[in-house]
Amino acid sequence: MFDFSKTKSRFHLPEGIVYLDGNSLGPLPVNVHQRMSRTIVDEWGELLIKGWNEADWFSMPNTMGERIARLLGAASGSIVMGDTLSIKIYQALTSALDLASKADAGRNVILSDTGNFPTDLYMAQGLITSTNSKLELKLVEPEEILAELDEHVAVLMLTHVDYRTGRMHDMEALSAKAKQKGIVTIWDLAHSAGAVPVDLAKAGVDFAAGCTYKYLNGGPGSPAFIYVSPEHVNNIRPALSGWLGHEAPFDFDLDYRAGDAISKMRIGTPSILQFAALDGALDVWEDIDMADIRAKSIELGELFIELIEKTCPHLILASPRASGQRGSQVSFRFHHGYEAMKAIIAHGVIGDFRAPDIMRFAMTPLYIDETDIGKAAKIIADVVNSGVWRESKYQVRGAVT
Ligand SMILES: *Cc1c(COP(=O)(O)O)cnc(C)c1O
Repeated sequence: MFDFSKTKSRFHLPEGIVYLDGNSLGPLPVNVHQRMSRTIVDEWGELLIKGWNEADWFSMPNTMGERIARLLGAASGSIVMGDTLSIKIYQALTSALDLASKADAGRNVILSDTGNFPTDLYMAQGLITSTNSKLELKLVEPEEILAELDEHVAVLMLTHVDYRTGRMHDMEALSAKAKQKGIVTIWDLAHSAGAVPVDLAKAGVDFAAGCTYKYLNGGPGSPAFIYVSPEHVNNIRPALSGWLGHEAPFDFDLDYRAGDAISKMRIGTPSILQFAALDGALDVWEDIDMADIRAKSIELGELFIELIEKTCPHLILASPRASGQRGSQVSFRFHHGYEAMKAIIAHGVIGDFRAPDIMRFAMTPLYIDETDIGKAAKIIADVVNSGVWRESKYQVRGAVT
């Protein structure tokens, strides 16, 4: 197996902390500092506006897309980056609906599940209301999806790995059945990219989107990505028809003409400082195989479950017990989860909390090993069993949980 002991030094990790929150914000890769300084000092500082050409700022949404393609099983030219995941979901949804209606205008259902992340659902709701559309967003339980794929469904929009429990959909099987029923698929890979192996081409996925600040460690607010299958990329119309997705942005035409291939999913000016950080963060992945990450993440997850279940009877496993159905996180239910998590963080183990009662812990082999898991489990057990979390200072809620 790949030797992960050498990858921990690629990150800056604060002294005395076990970081189990890579599912929310990856830690700082050490070379980001230098990579950002180059863009700030040498490029912005010295080149000024010339940076767009001379430092290749302009092509970064495409070149960074190429850098993550290998991790997602995506063909060259099928991913472009920018904006936030919420926006990329909106773009994918509008283009997917357009494709679906060209094939069969009678379909009026966007199908998703109750495990989906709220922003994905809100984007669909906003699209439907703002356009006075007859479309219906239908939500069913995650395990009912397969049976709900029928001739009324235009688009299937799912998050691959559930943000609360880590339950993972069978992307290949659901995409295959959807295709067979003439349904266009959109997969949200927020908790998959850099976390579990994904093969978009093999699974025959139509659209996908994800963020890079979680398992890919691109930094707070780093750019999102969108994938469009090569089969569709020349047949779709962007709804967010921004100037940088235009065929010739610097002709300044008064009329929009969609640009080439995946570049048409670009919208406006890319956030170059964030792209520089992401470029540095992606260096970490150069010699990494997702199959190795997966194998190690499962080992860590199994160990964590075993230790917590042995020492913390109050915590109930919320993630699937079968490792094959679980992403790269382990979650437990505890009805005082918020206060307990706050106390655990104060004692040096960082995880997070999702309402109503989920405590989440990410398994990230690049910088977490068995020793960390052992330390974390001991602190969690001490905090939960001692009741120290009942102290009033752990009851106050911040704006972000
Ligand atoms: C984290 C996450 C998002 C966040 O969207 P942003 O626009 O980046 O804030 C969206 N979807 C899922 C499934 C997520 O886990």
